[in-house]
Amino acid sequence: MSLISVEDLHAGYGQVRVLHGISFSVEEGSTSVILGANGAGKTTTLRALSGMTHYVTGRIALDGRDITRAATSTIVRRGVAHVPQGRGTFTNQTVEENLLLGGYARRGGVVRDDLSRVYELFPQLGERPKQHAGSLSGGEQQMLAIGRALMLRPRLMLLDEPSLGLAPIIIADLFRTLAELGREGDTTMLVVEQNANIALDIADRVYVLEAGRIVVDGEPETVRADESIRRAYLGY
Ligand code: ATP
Repeated sequence: MSLISVEDLHAGYGQVRVLHGISFSVEEGSTSVILGANGAGKTTTLRALSGMTHYVTGRIALDGRDITRAATSTIVRRGVAHVPQGRGTFTNQTVEENLLLGGYARRGGVVRDDLSRVYELFPQLGERPKQHAGSLSGGEQQMLAIGRALMLRPRLMLLDEPSLGLAPIIIADLFRTLAELGREGDTTMLVVEQNANIALDIADRVYVLEAGRIVVDGEPETVRADESIRRAYLGY
């Protein structure tokens, strides 16, 4: 069953129209990846799902309930966590404070368990709970941003270009952890990426966005096997 379904979504900023009627869905427990070049509208898509884009038409449903134009706070309460591009951690707070802020709406004992779980997934964070987020490496900040989102126990996690600005070895490590999360099946993920190669490794379903339209929709094996798609959209 689809956890989130998007139908004929148009979105933009004032006079600027960015998305021109896109439709897609993410099955519960799966990982969907939206690929696309700079400016294709990937961030705008995630922002529309999180209630952060003002000019929106079409229909966005979470678990069959309409959330088109719902307030971000309502969408978060319904279990959608957004890890924005550029991480957005609180740089003057420690690693642990950032994580606890992610779980602020939840009860003590459960929060402790979740904290241990995040440290298990990202041992680098567990080694430095008292370090200020601002002094972490880019990769560690990305792990922290994802860890903080996980503290909400989201049903759907939106990840905006998690690989951006990270060294290849760190990206590989991060995506291994995302794959592990995906395999557990508790967290449904929608990931937008420019880094097609690594993103295809964790995808159950792939969409390619070009100039605000979905031009490819398929399973990763099919997309990889199609040379014309690879050449045109994936750059290899
Ligand atoms: P990138 O990979 O570079 O982040 P993207 O696929 O995520 O690209 P978006 O950030 O969704 O693309 O941007 C799509 C288009 O919308 C771009 O042309 C961008 O300039 C425009 N845009 C984004 N934010 C705004 C804004 N606040 N006001 C006006 N135009 C915007």
